[in-house]
Amino acid sequence: MTFIRASVLRSFMFNGGSWRSSGQGALLAAWVAVSSAAWGQEAAPEVPPPDAPPPAAVLHEITARELKAHVAFLASDLLKGRDTATPESRLAAEYLAAQLLGHGATPGGDVLEDGQASYLQKFPLARVAPDPETTTLEVIVETPAEEEGGQPVRKTATYRMGRDFQLLGVGTQTETRSGAVVFAGRPTEAAPAVDEAGVFVIRDPSAPSRRLQRQAEGADAPKPPLATLLYRGAGFDPSQGRVRSSLTLLEAERPADPTLILPESARELLGFDPNDTTPRALPQVQMTLNLGVTREDLFDHNVVGFFPGSDPERTREVIILSAHYDHIGVAPNGEVFNGADDNASGTAGLLEVLEALASGPRPARTVAFLWVSGEEKGLLGSRWFANHVSLPEGYEIVGNVNMDMISRNDPLAISLTPSDKHPSHNTIVAHAVAACQAEGIEARFDADQYFFRTDSANFARKGIPVVFFFCGIHPDYHRVSDDVDKGDFDKAAKVTRAVYRLVWSLANATDRPRVTAEAETKTDPNIGSTD
Ligand SMILES: [Zn+2]
Repeated sequence: MTFIRASVLRSFMFNGGSWRSSGQGALLAAWVAVSSAAWGQEAAPEVPPPDAPPPAAVLHEITARELKAHVAFLASDLLKGRDTATPESRLAAEYLAAQLLGHGATPGGDVLEDGQASYLQKFPLARVAPDPETTTLEVIVETPAEEEGGQPVRKTATYRMGRDFQLLGVGTQTETRSGAVVFAGRPTEAAPAVDEAGVFVIRDPSAPSRRLQRQAEGADAPKPPLATLLYRGAGFDPSQGRVRSSLTLLEAERPADPTLILPESARELLGFDPNDTTPRALPQVQMTLNLGVTREDLFDHNVVGFFPGSDPERTREVIILSAHYDHIGVAPNGEVFNGADDNASGTAGLLEVLEALASGPRPARTVAFLWVSGEEKGLLGSRWFANHVSLPEGYEIVGNVNMDMISRNDPLAISLTPSDKHPSHNTIVAHAVAACQAEGIEARFDADQYFFRTDSANFARKGIPVVFFFCGIHPDYHRVSDDVDKGDFDKAAKVTRAVYRLVWSLANATDRPRVTAEAETKTDPNIGSTD
């Protein structure tokens, strides 16, 4: 049986078998009358028909003033830039949880020891940094004897972190790596940089790494080299950089993917010509990298709540609305990165959709609200949620709508991704375009390069159809000047109303969302895909 036919049958049955024969217009009118009368009463909820328009009164709940009020709190200096795993990110999480409670949403986070569900979902993190005391690079260069019977020439050097090089990309554990060395050559357009697993790779910092490119495109990353050694020529002072820590999600121990900049003195010892364009092995060279790590274990929270769907048949199908509430904290000079647009704006957008849904009729499918932390540190909270869904047993996420930055740039346009050129293109997109149109804003498809840079990527990797709303980069992006007074809250209100319309239509539509990969869109839509 095709998926479409199954869904039509279900809708027919749950409407007493009458709505198709009596005509959809009449049914719609009846539903609007009944559901309007039923609001606030304890009667079994009416199931809106698939094409029910969003209730106008509910759309009016979403206002620029309220959006600005939420952003003014979240982006105040008091919240110190909502950095991941800080008391201030906890404060933001509690604010969101309080809104869920106030609007009567069902908790969708961790089940606590007393059996009660919570609005918070805790996830474990580690802050790791390379330890300059114990991090060294040892180099052995053994040149064969020039004459028969002569002795090979052996030169060694030990480079120390902080004195001779800086290091990025440590894992969660101290380790030692030894192996051979490959020179990638100065890259040319015809020959991008090599990325070989199992060896140390020396390459030009300007060279695009195929591995990192593939990662940015969302592909499974190939195995990294033992370490990437960049050369920059003379004039680079390795003692100037500071030791940088990074946060990692503690799902499993994270392997190191180290990158360091070679000191100029090492180039002579290793004997490669930086202008050489030909990749080649350096068989006379052997390296050992000792990676010392300092580590602190931490945690942060996602915030989750939901409204169960009104159709018993579809209530376990969940449309999840998401936004990250964390930002990047405080600058070294003490100025706060308030992150009003990024992403107090999307966080506030979710709060307004929450209020609108709470005050109106329940759509057929379940709608869940998910605010995640750790986005700025590498989409950590959403990855945890996607891998450890805390919704009740049997609930399935069938679509995700994400808002990350919605209050800047063109007042009458918003960017959506995936476009129809993107492999994750799906049936949510057409609903999203219609929702934007209804609010008088243009949906632009110029943001595919950001698709894997926001939380919805973690749902897309699970095969879940996603759409991401994004206003685009601006001069205050990731600067201390991303403040509430720069925000266009009339625009944010239009985008938020469009998102409400979208969620409403997705949660009532006969068919659940599905990915429309290129091959699939070319098939006859009347035939439909199999279930
Ligand atoms: Zn950001």
